[in-house]
Amino acid sequence: MSLPVILDFLAKASYFAAAVLFIVGLMKMGSPVTARKGIRWAGVGMVIATAVTFIAPSTWGDHGIDQTNLLLMIIAIVLSYLFWIWGKKVPITDMPQMVAIFNGMGGGSAAAIGAAAMLQSATFTGTCDPAALQAHLCLDTTYAVLAVSGALIGAVSFSGSVIAWAKLDGRLDKRFTFAGQQVVNLLIFLGLAGLGAYLIYSLEVPIIIAFFVVALLFGVLMTLPIGGADMPVVISLYNAFTGLAVAFEGYVLQNESLIIAGTVVGAAGMLLTQLMAKAMNRPITNVLFSNFGGGGASAEEIKGSMKPVEAPDAASFLYLAERVIVVPGYGMAVAQAQHKMWELCKQLIARDKEVKFAIHPVAGRMPGHMNVLLAEAGVPYDLIADMDDINPEFKTCDVAIVIGANDVVNPVAKTDKSSPIYGMPILDVIDAKQVIVIKRGKGTGFAGIENALFYAENCRMLYADGQEAANKLITELKALDGGGGH
Ligand code: NDP
Repeated sequence: MSLPVILDFLAKASYFAAAVLFIVGLMKMGSPVTARKGIRWAGVGMVIATAVTFIAPSTWGDHGIDQTNLLLMIIAIVLSYLFWIWGKKVPITDMPQMVAIFNGMGGGSAAAIGAAAMLQSATFTGTCDPAALQAHLCLDTTYAVLAVSGALIGAVSFSGSVIAWAKLDGRLDKRFTFAGQQVVNLLIFLGLAGLGAYLIYSLEVPIIIAFFVVALLFGVLMTLPIGGADMPVVISLYNAFTGLAVAFEGYVLQNESLIIAGTVVGAAGMLLTQLMAKAMNRPITNVLFSNFGGGGASAEEIKGSMKPVEAPDAASFLYLAERVIVVPGYGMAVAQAQHKMWELCKQLIARDKEVKFAIHPVAGRMPGHMNVLLAEAGVPYDLIADMDDINPEFKTCDVAIVIGANDVVNPVAKTDKSSPIYGMPILDVIDAKQVIVIKRGKGTGFAGIENALFYAENCRMLYADGQEAANKLITELKALDGGGGH
């Protein structure tokens, strides 16, 4: 066996090992208990894949791979190191936009592979025989279909994700809409599909450039009209697209780790998108092609008034309670109140009260948002319950504390057919004997509608920033037993 064949085998085996590590990592990410380990497993897989890609070309001189790629790879590795440093510093509330950017990078990389493969083939002057194909010097029709499809999806995901990042980061908060926008977008897409079809049969440099310009433009135009608040679902969809694009380009390069990782990301992204759309009770087409949020109030008349409560009285409710359920929402993330909330709960547990945290699948602004915050604060996993498990327990709960949650506890989702959140499963907080809602004022949530819970007889509003309110409750609770003992 010749040295290049042995090296080829070793590289392929390493790529396969990397792919297995990605899958094991993903499986471990399925539970908060093993999620950190999962990230590390997948990270090791990524290091192996990067190292093999970096080392392999310099040892494969006769494999037709361009040695100048080494410089590009060094630039990519330095850039990823900078992103790694940035990722460590990003506050938890800014995670969605970081995910958007990382997603965009994946799509952009897949598009870049497609571009390189297409340009190489367009400028190749020899015969596209099996040896040239094997050395990635040219593309036959099958490979061209894969390269063009991957490049299209990757480029759209890249520019779309950049717009999503800008919206989530508050740099671009306008929803750019104009009459006939969807028709214009459809025409651009048809043009793009036409350019792609042309490229499959004839790879020409000017058409390749036009194809990428239009694909990037389409990503921007498709994302601009979507409301900023819908961005998490869109990001999840782009995540699925990116995976698909990477898998296609993996076929083009005949790289097992790209094929497997891309397929896994594509499938996971698609499932996540579906889960989010279902938890919001909105079909994905509705997210992409119609506007949501910020609209008028629910059509149903809500009777009663919001009844404020001060921290000492709220603390007395807690002091007398036996069973307490905490319902965190987006406002807790904004206030960064998870640490103080857990401190308050520890005070309650020390006074022999049963405490649980109830998590709605779309509480916050990204999937798993609340789980991540609570894990960061050190809340034990066995105190955290999913919606379906905890809902029957509200009936026997003495006090439910809602901190910065709004839509996910709004009973109109069950009662008002004209409400934009009608049909969305909610946490049955209203069933608790006493509800305390911590929020700054009368601001609405993501859906922009009134919340019937806040007007309920058993509900009291503790108006304050989440962290400040939790702090006050801790102080008042301690004052109730004279500050002693705990
Ligand atoms: P909401 O967005 O419905 O409500 C958040 C509430 O927090 C607001 O009413 C606000 O009221 C309050 N708040 C804001 N800042 C603070 C603060 N500093 N201290 C205390 N309270 C604060 O949050 P939910 O978590 O209940 O619902 C999530 C919504 O996001 C759902 O509609 C869901 O569909 C949507 N969504 C979720 C996604 C996900 O993946 N998780 C993705 C896309 C959308 P005030 O201003 O009065 O303080």
